[in-house]
Amino acid sequence: VWGLPTSPPGLVEFPKYALVDDGGREIGYLISCLGTAAIPMPNHVPLLMAPTVMIGEKDHLRFEKWLKDDEEVRLTIRSQGRLLPGLTSQNAIGTLRARTPEEIIFCAHYDLAYRSPGANDNASGVEVLMRLAETMKDHRPKKTVRFVAFGAEEWGILGSHFYVERRKERGTPGAVKYCLDLDMVGVGDHLWLWAGPDAFRSALKGTLDASGWTERLGIEYDTPKNGSDHQYFYSEGVPSVVLIFLALRSIPPTPGHRGTVVRTTDRTDNRGSHGDHGLA
Ligand SMILES: [Zn+2]
Repeated sequence: VWGLPTSPPGLVEFPKYALVDDGGREIGYLISCLGTAAIPMPNHVPLLMAPTVMIGEKDHLRFEKWLKDDEEVRLTIRSQGRLLPGLTSQNAIGTLRARTPEEIIFCAHYDLAYRSPGANDNASGVEVLMRLAETMKDHRPKKTVRFVAFGAEEWGILGSHFYVERRKERGTPGAVKYCLDLDMVGVGDHLWLWAGPDAFRSALKGTLDASGWTERLGIEYDTPKNGSDHQYFYSEGVPSVVLIFLALRSIPPTPGHRGTVVRTTDRTDNRGSHGDHGLA
């Protein structure tokens, strides 16, 4: 069964068709991946409780036409998926220690979506993470800073979930005071900044406004959604900020360029700026 590991409402919304058997009973779903071909994705969490198959945009257009013409569509589905047990991933962690036990997490995932080149999602985040570490390495910070390159984010945010769970086992998640997550920061003229809780977002906005450098960027402030490595820190109550650059104007959709975000706000369509399935 292929499904979507994460499909946060309002962030990535795919058209969906119900599959019914001859008795009219719903037995599964087809999800259309707009802007690209079908992408195999794991559903091991699982978030989709019904059998789900993803189709690409070409097939989606065919379905739309058939349904508009009121045609019955009969499907035969052959699955070629294979279980590969025992695979592992790693988190790479660098630490810059302060005198207090309080910590800040700077993070970016280094794995990439299936068949994606991975340049923006998320070599860009890793590059910024490395430059932050390089810039800060000779300074003694007020809080301990951990630079974490997480693995297996595209497979259901596994690396950072493991990290947070392990820290909970050891009783140290409370030491983490903030989390900064860099996920797709290489392309775009518009910064989509997720931050929460509300008081933290307001404070951050005040600081950024006062800095003056934000004038050349469009910034859209938003509450944190699920779907990246900040997720499990944030759900543990850690004030978190996620930086995502979007190309809302400068990058037109190009054939064969992977990546689709369909948003439900007024700026509804941003294609081609990142990896395979929106933010993840
Ligand atoms: Zn990503």
